Amino acid sequence: MTNDSFPIVLPGATIGVLGSGQLGRMFAIAARRMGYRVHTFSPEGDTPTGQVADVEIIGQYDDLEAVRKFASNVSVVTFEFENVPSASVDAATELVPVRPGGGVLHIAQNRLREKTFLARNGFPVTPFVAVRSVDDLEAAVETIGLPAVLKTAGFGYDGKGQTKLRKPEDVAAVVEAGIDEELILEGFIDFACELSVVAARGVDGACADWGVFENVHANHVLDVSVAPAGVPPEIAAEAVRIARGVLETLDVVGVLCVEFFCTRDGKLLVNELAPRPHNSGHLTFDACVTSQFEQQLRAVCGLPLGSTELLRPAAMANLLGDLWAKGEPDWAAACGIPEVKVHLYGKLRPKPGRKMGHLTALAESPEAAARLVIEARARLTG
Ligand code: AMP
Repeated sequence: MTNDSFPIVLPGATIGVLGSGQLGRMFAIAARRMGYRVHTFSPEGDTPTGQVADVEIIGQYDDLEAVRKFASNVSVVTFEFENVPSASVDAATELVPVRPGGGVLHIAQNRLREKTFLARNGFPVTPFVAVRSVDDLEAAVETIGLPAVLKTAGFGYDGKGQTKLRKPEDVAAVVEAGIDEELILEGFIDFACELSVVAARGVDGACADWGVFENVHANHVLDVSVAPAGVPPEIAAEAVRIARGVLETLDVVGVLCVEFFCTRDGKLLVNELAPRPHNSGHLTFDACVTSQFEQQLRAVCGLPLGSTELLRPAAMANLLGDLWAKGEPDWAAACGIPEVKVHLYGKLRPKPGRKMGHLTALAESPEAAARLVIEARARLTG
């Protein structure tokens, strides 16, 4: 049981979302479908979430007065962007429940805190060492060996702030440039595949997961996810066991994703946690009885969780801004494959690497679904 005694937030009430990207947009769609109102708070206007929300509030995350005003008009606050300053989360928490709580956010905001928490609690993680100076780096390379990946401890996502160190000259280049922020050196994992488990936990401690998704990244950014993952059942069961353990240990109320590397000898290592719906779970919107977004809503409102049943094998392909390089993609061509669903996030400017939308397909097997989304994406640019 979680230690949370606030009453159930029922349809008709207003949910506050910190952040305004595509995750908030899909959350707001799920919330509005169930008759809730949504207020979103972020520094920008005409945002993916704001276009769907009832009210879009433009404010800086560190403007505590603005955050308090936002929180005072909603029944519960959740977030879709985890790099909100902890002081702002604390300010909102004075007024309404914030789910998941600030403690979860604090751990997930920083790779060192996250990996230290996981290792201390017996969860398997990639080998890592904290690096705060060039001396630390040289010692860390001794411990971890090469190749290794050097990452910023804070504000890292989608491979941003990551450098692969393959040979001593790569280390020398970093030493030469100097280190003026907290970093983490991780062993480079020659994985067989990447997996993720998205799971939800309710106010009453009940847990639900969507099984295991298999993910392929391109340039460190998620490219294609399929469900169910093509791994042996014992690996899938172990991934789910670890993910549920993480939600319980962190006392999460809401949705959390655990990303894994699966090594060639079948070992699972946690790479990262995301304390919110995750890109690899977008296919749940079309392919499951309850999507990760509706589940986040149910969890943060204190409602019973919905069924996570996968209706058919499914695949999701991300649409990055690069697809707009030669003009508007050919949406009609993608829609020409009737099993494919097009999701666009309403972002105003396509930029290379920016997540603009995704495609989902359901089919008789995950491989067939992956072929459909990849074919549909290819059709977008002729
Ligand atoms: P991250 O931002 O840590 O999720 O990294 C994005 C992607 O970069 C991962 O999904 C992997 O494909 C790759 N990557 C990150 N860290 C490692 C590592 N230690 N070993 C191998 N690949 C990695």
